[in-house]
Amino acid sequence: MTTPSVPTIPHWVDGKRWEGTSTRFAPVTNPATGAVAATVPLASGADVDVAVERARAAYEEWRDVSLNRRARVLFAFREVLEARTPELAHAITAEHGKVVADALGEVARGAEVVEFACGIPLLLAGRHSEQVSTGVDTWSVRQPLGVAVGITPFNFPAMVPLWMHPVAIACGNAFVLKPSERDPSAALLLAEMWAEAGLPEGVFSVVQGDAEAVNALCIHPDVAAVSFVGSTPIARHVYETATRAGKRVQALGGAKNHMIVLPDADLDIAADAAVSAGYGSAGERCMAISVVVAVDPIGDDLVERVRDRSAALAVGDGNDAGSDMGPLITAAHRDLVEHYVAAGVEEGADLVLDGRNRVVAGRADGFWLGPCLFDHVQPRMTIYREEIFGPVLCVVRASSYEEAVRLVNENPYGNGVALFTRDGGAARRFEREIEAGMVGINVPIPVPMAYYSFGGWGQSLFGDTHMHGAEGVHFYTRGKVVTARWSDPATRGPDLGFPTNR
Ligand code: NAD
Repeated sequence: MTTPSVPTIPHWVDGKRWEGTSTRFAPVTNPATGAVAATVPLASGADVDVAVERARAAYEEWRDVSLNRRARVLFAFREVLEARTPELAHAITAEHGKVVADALGEVARGAEVVEFACGIPLLLAGRHSEQVSTGVDTWSVRQPLGVAVGITPFNFPAMVPLWMHPVAIACGNAFVLKPSERDPSAALLLAEMWAEAGLPEGVFSVVQGDAEAVNALCIHPDVAAVSFVGSTPIARHVYETATRAGKRVQALGGAKNHMIVLPDADLDIAADAAVSAGYGSAGERCMAISVVVAVDPIGDDLVERVRDRSAALAVGDGNDAGSDMGPLITAAHRDLVEHYVAAGVEEGADLVLDGRNRVVAGRADGFWLGPCLFDHVQPRMTIYREEIFGPVLCVVRASSYEEAVRLVNENPYGNGVALFTRDGGAARRFEREIEAGMVGINVPIPVPMAYYSFGGWGQSLFGDTHMHGAEGVHFYTRGKVVTARWSDPATRGPDLGFPTNR
């Protein structure tokens, strides 16, 4: 489909915008108005070939650039990113719908990964052992892989790509980003910023597209590694496809994050946290809290506090300073979330706050849904079992700490989890027993800092490596160990025995 009256958001290949050769396009919509604002090309396999070929050529030179020069480009990128953060945040709000303050926050968290990657000379330092045998030394190095690919979701169009590519590039790789086709502008702005920062052409590329581009990237012979973030079914597909083709893969999937509230918790703090983490970004966060587990006897009290706060939230255009929560990403997704709400009612949960049919003045065609709160949700219900990815918070009642923990550990996802308590002993027991990759103690969205690694367990991660931090450096490099001997007269003459220490 082409819409000639709106601009096209192109690919970025070889250091410049590129229209590609594909004849397929997708509309890019402003979710607050419902209007199509642009179109985006959906790359063909041939377009992917061009981007990867240029990236491969750029890699051959970039891998030889000294560590200090690479780090200087990272520092320069950090400066450009900071200067252009408002522009980037507004582009995110225009296509995603989240409120501008939230978009600024996502860029800030992404920038922290750039700051981490600025330390690449030290991060890549190997180990050296002198005299491992007489006259023999050994040392380890980590070297880049080649062309690394990032495939990213709509919900963090700047932060999730920034989890990946600053580390990959700092390690000496070239990087091809395939962002979500629903909000593709942020990727293009990041590409412009790299060019402004002096990154050589071809080291960072953007291929716009959908499943066709993803599948072509996953099997391309010149792609060495694939980083994916998105829903669980696609994460599994990407993991299986790319590993079968011999790639190194980290594929982060969906989530169903629980927040357990123990009876001794400060209920006002817990209610504030549940509302912020449940409805921030309209619930379209992989670290959103979607289930609150209220441990007896505080359930009624907690639900009342959460309901009062949720009912007061302002839903509106993300550009309005007064809005707490923006629209959902598409009309189809809003309809799907409403469908889940109807299923919850049908299956017997108590809908104590109904956000359906929300009207936003002057924005009749936006994809609106107000906060929805369910109480007395049972684990067998669809709204408990499936990831909804919208402003729907489910409260489950549990009779004890043990029952609450069992509920979390039996859930197939294992992304984030939080405990609210004043009891240090309970908190310590919880962080040891709970089965999830990221744990918050009185912190509802425990997103690790850039120098730690981000990732879940279970169906929230395929592969064994988390994003950024030390695991990111490890993912984008491969190890090599050198053993060297120089002019040791004692070694002269053939020796067919297996090398042993002398
Ligand atoms: P998605 O899985 O639909 O899309 C992610 C990427 O995969 C996009 O680039 C998309 O173009 C591509 N894609 C979509 N369908 C495909 C197919 N059939 N074959 C190949 N590629 C395909 O996810 P989304 O709707 O953009 O994002 C929301 C999801 O991402 C949620 O499930 C959320 O939990 C998850 N998410 C997870 C994390 C995490 O860290 N675990 C972070 C952010 C988002």
